[in-house]
Amino acid sequence: MDRQTEFVLRAVEERNVKFIRLWFTDVQGFLKSVAMAPAELEGAFAEGTGFDGSAIEGYARVFESDMIARPDPTTFQLLPWRTEASTARMFCDIALPDGSPAMADPRHVLKSALNKAADMGFTFYCHPEIEFFLFKKPIIPGQMPEPLDMAGYFDHTTMDDGTDFRRDTVMMLEQMGISVEFSHHETAHGQHEIDLRYADALSMADNIMTFRVVVREIAAQQNILASFMPKPFTDMAGSGMHTHMSLFEGDRNAFYDATDEVRLSKIGRQFVAGLLAHSAEITAVTNQWVNSYKRLVGGGEAPAYVCWGRNNRSALIRVPLFKPNKPSAARIEYRAIDSACNPYLAYALMLNAGLDGITRELPLPDEAEDDVWALSERERRALGITALPRSLDEAIDAMESSELVAETLGEHVFDYFLRNKRAEFEEYRAQVTPFELRTHLPHM
Ligand code: GLN
Ligand code: MG
Ligand code: MG
Ligand code: MG
Repeated sequence: MDRQTEFVLRAVEERNVKFIRLWFTDVQGFLKSVAMAPAELEGAFAEGTGFDGSAIEGYARVFESDMIARPDPTTFQLLPWRTEASTARMFCDIALPDGSPAMADPRHVLKSALNKAADMGFTFYCHPEIEFFLFKKPIIPGQMPEPLDMAGYFDHTTMDDGTDFRRDTVMMLEQMGISVEFSHHETAHGQHEIDLRYADALSMADNIMTFRVVVREIAAQQNILASFMPKPFTDMAGSGMHTHMSLFEGDRNAFYDATDEVRLSKIGRQFVAGLLAHSAEITAVTNQWVNSYKRLVGGGEAPAYVCWGRNNRSALIRVPLFKPNKPSAARIEYRAIDSACNPYLAYALMLNAGLDGITRELPLPDEAEDDVWALSERERRALGITALPRSLDEAIDAMESSELVAETLGEHVFDYFLRNKRAEFEEYRAQVTPFELRTHLPHM
């Protein structure tokens, strides 16, 4: 038995833990959980815990449904909101009965991409800026919920009823070992942002899943509704999950070069070039819902075109300014990804897109210095700036012909994802919307 496992067994006894929740994620990015009695724990570490994989979205077909959840002891954490009976959680890796990893497990997809980075000598670090909305209860079906407050970007307390919400959320995250760097009100009414301190991508994807639970827990305690829906209001900004990324070689930030104009190394530039080259193909995953494309329309500080810039908030990728004497802070920011993605799959694709740029030594296109939303189609074409997919439909088409996405996700997830998203789009396409009723019905 390794030390981590021993530590968990001891902690369960000493903290009198009554329930251990095994957490894992389905292909769409929803958290799944099964609670286990402490007496079962040793067995679960040795052999895993069986469950019916066919009942999990995207996992298995009914005739090959037996799956096994193997708890990862390094992710053991007490759940601070379970005060009556002490409860802990661990994230799991999913295996088939023969012990091989389940191809449908998003954690496995990300781990495979991280292994590839490790083979090239790199560790992949991420930090997300997570945006979301808070709404007043009650929620009346068919009616738009009311935002919790009417405040805007960085507004201070008295205007902002979300202040206590953010404080409680940040404190609970810290209790669970998740460090927060910033939290503030965002531009839209009822919209908030919490930025997590950087971590390796696997820990970060786990942290994002935990973050979503914590936000919903605090919301329930305060009798409000929290939502990560990418674009609830037509006329206000949507919720992105801009993610800052860097590659380290040992202790050294491989993106940093003091002599470069934007202080990005050759590796950093190639990584950005790779991300730009594959951005359209990975968008179905970084922005996986019909609603995601209501955000990526150009404006509201959400990207719609494939380009990079330094201080340019209309760019898809930004190279943030950082103190020249702080090489560890050299990073790039991917701005398309939204708060309702599956973080394991999205981070696996963002990483592999960047690594492909390094492998193929792709040159970085010129920096976009204009507000690219304001340019005409022709001006953008002259600058070689293409558009991101404008709908889930276009995004699926771009993904379908991508070798990079097929390889990264593996055949099982790739096929499931395409099928599932086509069905979502077809259902959406058939809807008669309030827009049509409002603009057509009285005049036709
Ligand atoms: N809400 C914006 C988006 O959707 C981001 C705003 C910001 O953080 N600058 O991407
Ligand atoms: Mg921010
Ligand atoms: Mg923001
Ligand atoms: Mg940002």
